[in-house]
Amino acid sequence: MGEGDRIARAARKQAIRRKAQRRHMHFYERCAHWSFSRLGESEPLRWHRERWILAGTALLLTALSGFFLPAWASAMRPDPQPMAHTLLPLTLPKAAPIAAPARAMEDWHVVQVQPGQTLSDIFQDQGLTLTDLQRVMEAAGAAKGAFHNIRPHQEFDFLLGGDGSLKGIRFDKDEANRAVVRFDGDHASLDIQPRAMETREHVAHGTITSSLYAAAARAGMSQGMVGKLADLFKYDIDFVQDLRDGDSFTVIYDDVYRDGSYFAEGDIVAAEFVNQGHRYTAYRFKKADGRYGWFSEDGRPIQKSFLRIPVDFTRISSRFSAGRMHPILGRMRAHKGVDYAAPSGTPIHAAGDGVIKFKGWMRGYGNFVVVQHNKNISTAYGHMSRFAKERVGQHVSQGQVIGYVGMTGLATGPHLHYEFRVNGVQRDPQTVTLPKPQPLPAAQLARFESQVVRPQLARLKAMDANVKLAQLRSATRNDD
Ligand SMILES: [Zn+2]
Repeated sequence: MGEGDRIARAARKQAIRRKAQRRHMHFYERCAHWSFSRLGESEPLRWHRERWILAGTALLLTALSGFFLPAWASAMRPDPQPMAHTLLPLTLPKAAPIAAPARAMEDWHVVQVQPGQTLSDIFQDQGLTLTDLQRVMEAAGAAKGAFHNIRPHQEFDFLLGGDGSLKGIRFDKDEANRAVVRFDGDHASLDIQPRAMETREHVAHGTITSSLYAAAARAGMSQGMVGKLADLFKYDIDFVQDLRDGDSFTVIYDDVYRDGSYFAEGDIVAAEFVNQGHRYTAYRFKKADGRYGWFSEDGRPIQKSFLRIPVDFTRISSRFSAGRMHPILGRMRAHKGVDYAAPSGTPIHAAGDGVIKFKGWMRGYGNFVVVQHNKNISTAYGHMSRFAKERVGQHVSQGQVIGYVGMTGLATGPHLHYEFRVNGVQRDPQTVTLPKPQPLPAAQLARFESQVVRPQLARLKAMDANVKLAQLRSATRNDD
């Protein structure tokens, strides 16, 4: 009884903590796009100076690490460029200027679509007619898709002649291209100008003092990017329960810039997370099939073969045990799974990739699903209120919804009864050693190690060393 209470109390605490975290996420949504983009606008001259200072710091650092931290000295050598909170220099071409110099004096009217406005409203506001709109649509050719489903805040620029006639219109054909339509008498021309889309790499480091989001915001990361970071490590770290003050992360990531301004968040290139003294890593790698995946330092996919818990539960109502008093049968019976209490209708996810082996009614289990994952391992899910649509024999992917929490069969309240079976024998899902995913094949592994891990690890270490040096310096100052 005492243990049941303790578990219930812990679950309540966890629910409160989750709520608090959700509030936190809301709070940081406000600074979602606060990033390094402003630094990017600094002029090239300052860049040079900054890089000299950084190079000097690197030199000093290398010397220091040689004295105090021999292990770092070798790691430092291949990449003498420390990158604390800086943008890396770019070699991508600049955007072609939108108007040629001869047309620099043209007086384009920028019109932003207001909610509820139609294209004909916009044209009429400019003193133009539906005939003008029709001419534009005809001349726009491949770019006329921009006129379908216009959205508020979309922009159309108009160029009018002295007599008020339409001389030109320009607009975004799509995210990466600008279209310019010009009229010269009866002649119409269309020009598509690609915009400068570029990715810029950032390196950020954070130490957790209150929450992951606070630490990441201090490091200049957008909320979306923090989400991506948490997503990478969610298989190893429970971000609700496992984070501790002093945990830290270093991350190299891309952002996408259009015509020099921040446009969208990109991907994580490499990341390191130290949680309660354990170090986890993730590196982006283009696989043989051309798709990107994320892998730990030893070349194994970040995504594990099995989810430890296949449902978003409120509390564990019964653990795995060799013998317990059954609440309905009233006699001692082994409990060969874990019961996760959750509201009726909560989705249940397949713990791993596999094939539906059983779906239907099974005595005390009620509505029951068994997923076969490989020759030896299967998982089983009981008491479902209803099933998802997949039929026996169909393939399911990890995380795919296979049914919904209920209390069919022998159950006193809505919960998922979850079993992990190895060669048909139930094992404790909370403690069973989950099989590690297969590492990359040898040829790809060699390429991963030489082209990804070695250079990126050097950069992560350089960043960490930089941070440690800064801490060392402030500690020395405090001693004076
Ligand atoms: Zn159970």
